[in-house]
Amino acid sequence: MALKSITYRWFLNSFGVIFVILAAVVAISGVSIHNYYYASVKEVLNNRASTVDGMMIRYSENTVTANFYTEIRSYVESFPDKNMMELMTIDHSGEVTLTSSGFSYNERNLPDYNMALSSASGEGYFVGYIESGEKIMAVTRLVTPINSEFSAMRFVVSLEGVDRAIFSMVMTISAAALAVLVLVLVSGMFFIKSIVRPVREIGVAARQIASGDFKSRIASPTDDEIGELCETINFMADELENTEKMKNEFISSVSHELRTPLTAIRGWAETLLDTDNYDAATLKKGMRVISAETERLSGMVEELLDFSRIQNGRFSLVFQKLDLLAELGEAVLIYTEKANREHIQIIYNEPEMLPIIYGDKNRLRQVFINIIDNAIKYSDPGGTVKIDAFARDNDIYISVADSGCGIAPEDLPKIKTKFYKANHTRRGSGIGLAVANEIIQMHKGSIDIESTLGVGTTVLIRIPVSGPENAPEQSSILERKPENEQKL
Ligand code: ADP
Repeated sequence: MALKSITYRWFLNSFGVIFVILAAVVAISGVSIHNYYYASVKEVLNNRASTVDGMMIRYSENTVTANFYTEIRSYVESFPDKNMMELMTIDHSGEVTLTSSGFSYNERNLPDYNMALSSASGEGYFVGYIESGEKIMAVTRLVTPINSEFSAMRFVVSLEGVDRAIFSMVMTISAAALAVLVLVLVSGMFFIKSIVRPVREIGVAARQIASGDFKSRIASPTDDEIGELCETINFMADELENTEKMKNEFISSVSHELRTPLTAIRGWAETLLDTDNYDAATLKKGMRVISAETERLSGMVEELLDFSRIQNGRFSLVFQKLDLLAELGEAVLIYTEKANREHIQIIYNEPEMLPIIYGDKNRLRQVFINIIDNAIKYSDPGGTVKIDAFARDNDIYISVADSGCGIAPEDLPKIKTKFYKANHTRRGSGIGLAVANEIIQMHKGSIDIESTLGVGTTVLIRIPVSGPENAPEQSSILERKPENEQKL
């Protein structure tokens, strides 16, 4: 379908136009050449007629009437241009009396002579076929000196040679035009093929990709716009393949993450159910595990729900006046015990105070928890997590620096992307940083991560100090629109 339509359009718009132009050029040059040649021949005949007429006037003045006929006869017989044209004399009855070829001329029909008789200038002109089938041009001039023998002089030339010359010229021009047409046709078809074939391949590959075959790629045929399109589609397939891979890994890690606390909860629930005589300490321990794991599960489900809300553009913030130190302090407190259990030291340099800002306190606490959780999760026993908070210019900075495993330079730019996990040895779904980044961006802030593999990672959160003017008008709820999905 595409092949037909592109070829058809090219045929009509490009080849068709060139064809019409060339046909017009051939036709116009044919007519011009024809007119030029015929006009030149006529001019030659007219010049001869004027010369001969002048000569006759001189003869008539210098010779007696008896000799006039003889003089003219000898001139006609020895006419110097007899190879090129024929000179004839016509008497008053309209018959040809003398010819420079010496042959008698029996043609009765002399339209040029009749024209000369009826025209004021005494000149006649004829182009046409004579009885023998030959095409001629004839110019007739009435003889100026009054005499009884000659009424007119007629100059006749055969047009066959001229027509042959015109024909061969028109043929040469036509051949050149045809050669141009063939060249245009061949190069046009080649060009169209070079577009249509890759476009068809692109169509096939795009359909394969659409049907889920993300391994399908197009060989880039040329270094032009088509090649660029192929590369873009290949890039799109790469991205889809990566996303598909990350999505599958995400499903598998989320399932794993959900199963671990569920196993602990079920284990303890069955233990407590099966045992009739358990002591209070065991009961308490079991209930504590069940409570902690339920908390963990609900945290994970909340994170998943947040992520889904961001994806759907329905993620909302409740802006209010808040003290960031209180939220950070709470997050640090939640993790201190956990860090102690894992033999990781949290060093929190709590500042005296920070400027009051407008923001969503639950979401910001969630961000701090996420970043501190990562710092502990990716650290080994004996490691430290250093937390600082300070205000500079018009921003508040919270820095969480760990001495953990670090992030490889090639992974660093991607870790804020949804589903991206640089480290598969630790639990995690790969969406925590994506959600945190989204929340901080909605507060017009940023998250910068610096890391050295095997040395540690520093996450720097920047939140601008803002007044109520930063909160959305009328409502205190800020809805995230779906166009931001791509950033995740
Ligand atoms: P996850 O649930 O896998 O931790 P995140 O979105 O929180 O997902 O983090 C994305 C990836 O970034 C992690 O898989 C991990 O590889 C890397 N990462 C995040 N924080 C740290 C850190 N403090 N130290 C080392 N790697 C980190």
